[in-house]
Amino acid sequence: MNEDNVKVHFVFHFVVLTSQILMAGIYIHIPFCKQACHYCNFYFSTSLGNKDNFIKALLKEIELSKDYLAGEKIETIYLGGGTPSHLKIEDLRLITAKLLSVYDLNELREFTIETNPDDLKDAELIKQIGTLGVNRFSIGIQSFFDEDLRYMNRAHNSDEALSSVKRVQDAGFENITIDLIYGTPTMNDDKWKQNLDTAFSLSVPHISSYALTVEAKTSLEKRIGKGESKAVDEVQSAGQLKMLMNEMRAHNFEQYEISNFACNGMYAVHNTNYWLSKKYLGLGPSAHSFDGNSRRWNVANNVNYIKSINAGKILFEEEVLTEVQKVNEKIMTSLRTQWGLGIMNYEVGIRNEILESMKGIDSSHYLLENDILKLTEEGKLFADSIAASLFIEE
Ligand code: SF4
Repeated sequence: MNEDNVKVHFVFHFVVLTSQILMAGIYIHIPFCKQACHYCNFYFSTSLGNKDNFIKALLKEIELSKDYLAGEKIETIYLGGGTPSHLKIEDLRLITAKLLSVYDLNELREFTIETNPDDLKDAELIKQIGTLGVNRFSIGIQSFFDEDLRYMNRAHNSDEALSSVKRVQDAGFENITIDLIYGTPTMNDDKWKQNLDTAFSLSVPHISSYALTVEAKTSLEKRIGKGESKAVDEVQSAGQLKMLMNEMRAHNFEQYEISNFACNGMYAVHNTNYWLSKKYLGLGPSAHSFDGNSRRWNVANNVNYIKSINAGKILFEEEVLTEVQKVNEKIMTSLRTQWGLGIMNYEVGIRNEILESMKGIDSSHYLLENDILKLTEEGKLFADSIAASLFIEE
C-alpha cells in the first residue's frame, strides 16, 4: 500500500471513552537504538544488521496475532522501543500499511511514535511520519543540559533537545509529550528547576517524568560499581519529585498518574488504557500483551524472534492471572492514578481485607472519599509500598 492509500484510509474518529465500548490497543516494540543509554534496561540492539529481517518478521507477526484481540476495536497504536525513529520512513510505512490491511482502524484515537531528538532534524521526515497517521509524538528529551545527557550516554545534545520539539510543533503537531529524568547526580535542584522551566516554555501539553533508577545489570550499575559514574542520591531524587509535583501544579498540569502530567485533559490514551486494564496486543521482541485474563511476553532476542516467526510461531511466555492477581494489579495501577481505587467494585470479603490493611497506612498518605481510595501528595512518594501493603492474600 502506498503512502496516499495510507492517508486516505486513516480517518480518526474521536469517540468518547466509555466502559461499554470494547476498545483495545496495539504496542509495537522496535528493538533498535543508535547507542545504549547507560541506565536502560529495555530490550534493544545497537546493530541494524537484522533490521530488514526484523521488519519482515514483524509484518508476519501482525498477521499471526490478528485474532488475539478477538475483534475489539483498535483505539490506540503505540510505536515504542527501542527507538522507532531510528527506522527509515519506508520501514514505518510498511508497518503501518500492514496494520491497516489487518485491522479496522476507523476508531483509532491516538497513534503515538516514540522518537529521539537526534532523529528529528529533518522537517520533511516529521511531516512524512504524520502521513502515516501518527498524531502524537513522544520525544525522549530527558534533560536540556549536556552534562546530564553525557552522564546518561544519550545520543543527542541540549540544542537538539530544544530544536526537536520546535520542529515537531512547526510541522503542525500539538499532541506532544516529552520525557524528563530527575535524580541524575549531575543535576542539582537549580538545574532541575531550569529543566522544568524550559519544558513549560515549550508549551507541550504532556510531560512524563521518571526518577533515574539504577537497574540491575545495566551499564550504569557497572559504572557506579567501578567508580566511573557518580551514584544516585535517593534523598535528592525524592526532593526533586516533590519539586516536580509543585511546579506541575503551579503550571496547571494535572498529575493524572504519578509519572504523567497533562494540560487540558491531554492524557495519554494508550497508557491510560493500560491502567484501566483494557486489552492490548504487544508485537515485536520483548513486547507484552494482555487479553483480560492472561499476560504474555515475547522473547527478548531479535535472532530467536525472527527465527521462530519465520517458522510460523510466536515465541512467548504466558501467565494466566488468578482473580487475586487481577485485584492486586488493579490496586497497584489505580493508586498511581488520580482516579484512585474504587473499593466498592469488590465483593465484601476483598473490600474488608483492603479496609483492614488500610489501618496500617499513615492517614496523611491517603484519602477515602465516596469509597474511592486515593493517595495524597505525600502518599505518592510511597505509592508502591502502600499498594504492596494493601495486596490481597491468595
Ligand atoms: S534510546 Fe531509549 S530504549 Fe534506547 S537505549 Fe536509550 S533509553 Fe533505552
